[in-house]
Amino acid sequence: MKKIALLGATGSIGQSTLEVVRNHPDRFQIVIVSSHSKFELLQEITKGIPIEHIVMTGNENTITDPSVHQGEDALLELLRNTDYDILLNAVVGSAGLKYTVSGLESGHDVALANKESMVIAGEIVTEIARKNSCIIIPVDSEHSAIMQCLNGVRERSQVRKVILTASGGPFHNLKKEAFKNITLRDALQHPNWAMGNKITIDSATMANKGLEVIEAHYLFDMPYEDIDVIIHPQSIIHSMIEFIDGSIIAQLSFPDMKIPIQYALSYPNRIRATAEYTDLSQIHELTFYKPNYEKFPLLKLAFEVGKAKGIMPTIFNAANEAAVTLFLKEKISFIEIPEIIENELSRNNIPNPDLETIISIDTEIKKKIFNAYK
Ligand code: NAD
Ligand code: MG
Repeated sequence: MKKIALLGATGSIGQSTLEVVRNHPDRFQIVIVSSHSKFELLQEITKGIPIEHIVMTGNENTITDPSVHQGEDALLELLRNTDYDILLNAVVGSAGLKYTVSGLESGHDVALANKESMVIAGEIVTEIARKNSCIIIPVDSEHSAIMQCLNGVRERSQVRKVILTASGGPFHNLKKEAFKNITLRDALQHPNWAMGNKITIDSATMANKGLEVIEAHYLFDMPYEDIDVIIHPQSIIHSMIEFIDGSIIAQLSFPDMKIPIQYALSYPNRIRATAEYTDLSQIHELTFYKPNYEKFPLLKLAFEVGKAKGIMPTIFNAANEAAVTLFLKEKISFIEIPEIIENELSRNNIPNPDLETIISIDTEIKKKIFNAYK
């Protein structure tokens, strides 16, 4: 029985994780569950699943049930002192970093959906994992694909490239001139995946793929020069690796996050699917295109901030989170998202920032941007 601490249970990844757990009650047990808000929803989606600790992290909850733990500190304390095997971090945004760190520092493996942890503190997080002999198993479908493709590779020097696939989002075919008219509704229509709002907007700007490039760099210790992005609108191939002899290995399935979530939980084993099996005869074509950096400047910028290292990925991520929040509140237009981020990137770099510096710069940038659009 694998004991799981599931953070962000009410989100898109969180709810898919609960489906996986329900499908395998003999293998998985939830020990800690957290949500920031929506207590009623949390109760509804966990009905019938025995859970030791329920934590609500947000400040604005009005819960009187004394058995419910409340606040971020309560969750951090539980992550350090409870008996569990794996932390599945499905919190959205940089708020997830402290939980990733806490899980790893207390010697737990982490199934990581919260890519922002890796983007803003990749060096520190991987070092903590190494020191504590813990593994980080990606939940992000592309990184799960790469990990699966890398299984059985004896010598890393045989890998020539990591090829991340991207759906291209809803605006892959839209002319650049039309980007100024994109509405919130347009941007929330992802062609292939149903996800939380923040990552859906990140997919529309392709900032998501940029974050994933940085995530791949740290997870697989791949130089940025050896990470390629290719548009693949069907989202059937979730990513690939190319070997030095010219062979390419890919991982395929219908787009369903329950597959990478379950793989992260069952790793290194494979168990019966929770998602629908892929009927290849329903897929008539797999197509590929080069990404368009003019239409999607954030993808290019992500490579640049990744290479610059230091505090630059934190600035990129914080400005992106703030800009996406403003766009979701319809306070700015779609094309203002990259403008706001570019503007913040004129700051000076800070080499090798520690966790405190990362968190304080993250907070400072978000505050500044929110104040400017009050
Ligand atoms: P979501 O918005 O649907 O859910 C977010 C969850 O985090 C909710 O349970 C919410 O209560 C909790 N949360 C929000 N703010 C918090 C805070 N400050 N502290 C603690 N908890 C907080 O998001 P999602 O789409 O499930 O994405 C979660 C993470 O997984 C993101 O990092 C995203 O990039 C990544 N991811 C998502 C998908 C997907 O298909 N949705 C795919 C790959 C990676
Ligand atoms: Mg992804």
